[in-house]
Amino acid sequence: MTLFDSPAFEGHEGVHAFSDEKTGLKCIIAVHSTARGPAAGGCRMWGYPDAEAALTDALRLSRAMSYKNAMADLELGGGKAVIIGDSRTQKSPALFEAFGRAVEDVAGKYWTAEDVGVSPADLMHARKHTRYVAGLEGHSGASGDPSPVTAEGIFRGIRLSVKRRLNRDLDGVTVAIQGVGHVGAYLAEKLHAAGAKLIIADVNEEALREVAAATGARIVTPGTIFDAEAEVFAPCALGGAINADTLPRLKAKVVAGGANNQLHDSDVGRALFEAGILYAPDYVINGGGIINVAGEIRAIARDEAFDPAWVETKLARLMQTLDEVMDRSKVERRPTHEVANEMAKARISLAAEQKAAA
Ligand code: NAD
Repeated sequence: MTLFDSPAFEGHEGVHAFSDEKTGLKCIIAVHSTARGPAAGGCRMWGYPDAEAALTDALRLSRAMSYKNAMADLELGGGKAVIIGDSRTQKSPALFEAFGRAVEDVAGKYWTAEDVGVSPADLMHARKHTRYVAGLEGHSGASGDPSPVTAEGIFRGIRLSVKRRLNRDLDGVTVAIQGVGHVGAYLAEKLHAAGAKLIIADVNEEALREVAAATGARIVTPGTIFDAEAEVFAPCALGGAINADTLPRLKAKVVAGGANNQLHDSDVGRALFEAGILYAPDYVINGGGIINVAGEIRAIARDEAFDPAWVETKLARLMQTLDEVMDRSKVERRPTHEVANEMAKARISLAAEQKAAA
């Protein structure tokens, strides 16, 4: 199979490969779409077994960013960078400087930020060679940790989903949260303040203890969180939480959480729908984080300070979009993830047509 026939390639505007012998940098920058604006998406450093695995991941992630940015109504397209290497042993300032030169080479078509294996400190080195970097600290446009904004969006999305599916407020509703890391812990605080009862699981004992102490949450093991007697299941750990094994165990009527790629595959999304479980599509409900990063890109591009009011406007709009996805799903009797994908594609196509006509 050639690059152009690969299912992951679908619709990509550009794929850029860079290597730098001196620093050992091997990286791919995938630009899925710039129809709505410059492509934005984080940089991941991972010990991929080979270049093909890195390419597939870059393509998959950059297309997902196009969809996420479109649904968050941002003037940004989708892109992603991957650096091939072990982030624990193969990082160096020089490697990230070389990465910065690679980003600069793409000439403003792509803005980078943090992702798995890459920290703000790494990006400071990249910043020496390009301005197209968000997620830095210590400047007036800086947006800080996106997790609280991500959690706020998920909290509002859960409230909306519970209202729609169970016709009630969060007071007294039981929410099972899988993973109480950055996003899950903030989410737990907000749900607790709204009167929800919590059941939590994590592989990190310390995180569990802290969240339980602050919220009165009941702790269960990671293996049994799927069986929790809860109205809402909130995946906030890794991808693939909802699959053919876990779906039949869920008691929840709503699945809504922060993790990316919650559905193992599209069939599971359809099975959720057929079981009468309302699913808030992950890349819509967790769009608060990218909205926060977009606030920083906007500030840097305009040489202005970060504006939290702009972020709030976009977050409120995101909830309207989530509501619209659920409306359409109900009227058209189709799973929410299918409706969301279709809406995202339509938004990108419309922007591409408008750009071509301008
Ligand atoms: P994190 O690493 O801080 O938290 C993840 C938590 O899940 C950790 O506490 C980890 O111990 C736990 N975990 C791992 N495996 C588990 C298992 N099998 N069962 C239960 N818990 C397990 O990450 P985060 O920033 O909180 O992000 C959580 C998810 O949300 C990720 O999928 C991430 O991609 C997604 N997301 C995060 C943001 C953000 O702003 N941080 C934005 C959008 C999406």
